[in-house]
Amino acid sequence: MKHRRNIPPIVGLMVLMLVMSMVTTFLRARGPELTHTQIVGLFEEERVKSFVIQGNQIELQLHGTYEGKETLLCDLGDPELFLEQTEALRQQQLESGVLEKYDFLAEAETRPMDYVAPLLLAGGILLMFWFMLMTRAGAGGGGGAGGNFGRARTVMGIPDGRKVTFDDVAGADEEKAELQEVVEFLRDPERFHAMGARIPHGILLVGPPGTGKTLLARAVAGEADVQFLSISGSDFVEMYVGVGASRVRDLFDQAKKAAPAIIFIDEIDAVGRKRGSGLGGGHDEKEQTLNQLLVEMDGFGKAEGVIVLAATNRPDILDPALRRPGRFDREIYVGKPDSKGRQEILKVHARDKRLGDDVDLKKIAMTTAGFTGADLQNLLNEAAILATRAERPVIIQKDVNEAMMKVIAGPEKRSRVRNVRDLRITAYHEAGHAVVMHYLETCDPVHHITVVPRGRSLGTTWTLPSEDSSHLTRNEMFEDIVGLLGGRAAEEIVFRDITTGASNDIDRSSDLARDMVARYGMSKALGTISYNSDDEVFIGGSYGKTRSYSEKIAGQIDDEVKAVIDAAYAQSQKLLNEHREQLDAVAEFLLKHESMTGDQFCACMEGREIIIEEPESDQVSLFDEKPAEE
Ligand code: ADP
Ligand code: MG
Ligand code: ZN
Repeated sequence: MKHRRNIPPIVGLMVLMLVMSMVTTFLRARGPELTHTQIVGLFEEERVKSFVIQGNQIELQLHGTYEGKETLLCDLGDPELFLEQTEALRQQQLESGVLEKYDFLAEAETRPMDYVAPLLLAGGILLMFWFMLMTRAGAGGGGGAGGNFGRARTVMGIPDGRKVTFDDVAGADEEKAELQEVVEFLRDPERFHAMGARIPHGILLVGPPGTGKTLLARAVAGEADVQFLSISGSDFVEMYVGVGASRVRDLFDQAKKAAPAIIFIDEIDAVGRKRGSGLGGGHDEKEQTLNQLLVEMDGFGKAEGVIVLAATNRPDILDPALRRPGRFDREIYVGKPDSKGRQEILKVHARDKRLGDDVDLKKIAMTTAGFTGADLQNLLNEAAILATRAERPVIIQKDVNEAMMKVIAGPEKRSRVRNVRDLRITAYHEAGHAVVMHYLETCDPVHHITVVPRGRSLGTTWTLPSEDSSHLTRNEMFEDIVGLLGGRAAEEIVFRDITTGASNDIDRSSDLARDMVARYGMSKALGTISYNSDDEVFIGGSYGKTRSYSEKIAGQIDDEVKAVIDAAYAQSQKLLNEHREQLDAVAEFLLKHESMTGDQFCACMEGREIIIEEPESDQVSLFDEKPAEE
């Protein structure tokens, strides 16, 4: 304790600097924190007047306010992705005047404060380490405040305080069975060691977003009743130089102290991307973090009773070093649930909801092929909100149906004013999809058609997969393309002109055609070879694909893709020309009633009488707002 009695004035000064820099950092972070999706949401709700993107930050000027603020300054995880996602909306809103202007500033033009603050902070951290070392030397350990820097955002224990167990994870029986072994090991590591059993250090949970990977990891900790230390890969990305690696070290130290314990690294792809494929530079920080992770995973001995779980939906872009023996050498695939699984998940989430007698979870499960656990949770939640807003005592099936539309395609936009011509084009476009799909053998039955805009689409036709299937035959893929092009084909046949409304269809059909040719080797001319290279490379701010074939092959691929698309488009037009009367009938119905159910569509196609349910009084028709005019 002797040494700490007279702290030199310079230390005081530096601590003051640190405090100041922290204060400025906090001052800059004004306004509520918004996620990427929330920011995109603001665009969709037409609330953005103008915006400026600078580096990873976006400054939004709003129409009206958001939580009392007219100007928001937020972090954007991925500006490229953001620009891509809002492209169509931006154009549309610029034309309609909702969005007045936007601007991109080069990163270099940062305001002085933006760049002084991190410097000060870095200086401060250095100082803290130095200070800590000093006091350690003096007082014999007992880490000072600086020790907390590396663990700032590590979540200890179960985040919301409630213990999650396997009972909370429904319908993932195989995944749970595989993880059961881990649970048993964590409960009693000694028993396994005595037997000489080798337990994996690291397990990678792989699967699409929302399938319950995070939930499973928490449940393993809950079942084994051990500490759960979690960190998200994306947290590392926004950290200051050098902190990522030290945070990893710290995380492992904490886990060893708390052992038996689970370390959970969510979104590991954010740090675990392949090394050395970048050309842009500036990636040293991520590499250091990744290297540290590898070092730590190699470093811990058998007896420590720590297991690392990690989750990703992009296993293909992970650095191969992560998957070597002794690291993440076991992989568990967490897939989308099948209909039985969906029913069980619905049951779990219905536990705390008041459901009416007419709500049939089994039926909901059957009509939600492709939904993840998160989607299903969201579905019931939206239904509960709708029931509350309608002041009903319980959730009824109608709420669930409406919620389904919302979850599938984003909230309805009845207020968007559209002129009659646009509506006619949309009606024919959707009718085109539906009629073409009806006459295709392998296409799923049409479930619902609407010209009410939802999210960013003007209209929607969706089909109901009759069963969950994950492979596609050549014929199925081709017919999918024919169906996708039905909208554009109808526009051309009826209006002798085409619009930009089909751009999403065109994108999707081109992707499918390219996959058929280059990935699944379904083209005769090119043979059964995959020319697809999934290696993603980071090139100066955007991801590109490496190519392992010649220009000549590239040209042939393009020709083949075009041939597939042309053939599909021709078939689409042929079908519509043959069934023009039905196309007209469906489009007319849509113009009049906005939406059409699967049953109504079938009746229309078979020339039967279409049964129309009386609309409820609280529903507003599109036509009430604007008288018809051409
Ligand atoms: P992931 O990490 O795979 O993206 P999450 O674990 O974050 O998915 O899941 C999000 C939410 O979805 C969970 O909090 C949970 O409420 C719900 N959910 C997902 N899968 C299941 C499941 N199998 N059983 C119950 N709920 C689930
Ligand atoms: Mg997750
Ligand atoms: Zn379309």
